[in-house]
Amino acid sequence: MESLFPGKEKLYEGKAKMIFPGDNPGEVYMVFKDSATAFNGVKKGTIEDKGRLNAEISAILFNLLEERGIKTHYIEKVDEVTLKVRKLRILPVEVVVRNIVAGSLSKRSGREEGTPLPRPVLEIYYKSDELGDPLWNDEHVLVFGVLTEDELSEVKEMARKVSGILREFFAGRGLELVDMKLEFGRIVTSGPAGEEVLGPIVLGDEISPDTCRFWDKSTGEKLDKDRFRRDLGGVREAYVEVLRRISN
Ligand code: UDP
Repeated sequence: MESLFPGKEKLYEGKAKMIFPGDNPGEVYMVFKDSATAFNGVKKGTIEDKGRLNAEISAILFNLLEERGIKTHYIEKVDEVTLKVRKLRILPVEVVVRNIVAGSLSKRSGREEGTPLPRPVLEIYYKSDELGDPLWNDEHVLVFGVLTEDELSEVKEMARKVSGILREFFAGRGLELVDMKLEFGRIVTSGPAGEEVLGPIVLGDEISPDTCRFWDKSTGEKLDKDRFRRDLGGVREAYVEVLRRISN
C-alpha cells in the first residue's frame, strides 16, 4: 500500500488507517487498511477488503454531510482505499452519540442491549492509549483544559446534528444507527513564516461500520464491527451490505 505514495514517508499509522503527506499544503491522504482491532488492541485481525469498503462508505457519508451543511475534512476520494482530506489538528476526545443502548453503555447502565433511548445520549472519551480512552464528563474535559467551553459546546452541537442527519438517512435504507463515534479537529494551514495556523473545527476521521453500530431494521441483524468483536462471522458480508444499502 505504501507504493501508492512513492518516496513519501508516512506522517502517521494507526490501527485502521495511515496518513501520508498531501501534494498541496494543508492536505493529507488517508489510506484505509484491512486490519482490525478491538478491546483496545487486544483482539487483532484482518477483514478482507475492509479498507476499500470503509473508504467508500466514508466518502459517501462525508459527501452527504457536506451537502447538508456540516463542515468536514473530506475533499475527494482518490483511489479505492484513499481519501484526500484537509489536514487537521485532532481534538483529543472521541464523541459517542447513542440512540439505542449497546456495548459499553449496556454494561455500565445495566440496561439491556436494544433498549431505545428517549433522546440521543452523548459521551466524551479522552483520547489516551495509555489510559485506554476513559469516559469523561464535561467537567473533566474543562477542568483538565482538554477543550475550551466553546470547543466543547461546538463539538457537542455538531455531533448531535451529524447523528440526526445520518440516523434519518440510514432509516430510509432500512438500517438503525444504534450509536457512532465521531472525531473532530481544527483545520491546519501554514502562515507567512511557515508556521502552523489553526482554523475552524470540522468533522474528521472516518464514518464506517468500524465506528458505528448498524442494525437491520427488520431482522435486527448486526451489520458492523460487533461481528468481528463478538466472533459472529460474516464480517466482510456485513460491511458489503452497509455499502450496498447506501449506494444510490
Ligand atoms: N467506538 C469506536 N472506537 C472506540 C470505541 C467505540 O469507534 O475506540 C464506537 C463503537 O463502534 C460504537 C460506539 O463507538 O459504535 C460506542 O461504543 P461502546 O462505547 O459501546 O464501546 P464498545 O462496545 O465498542 O467497547
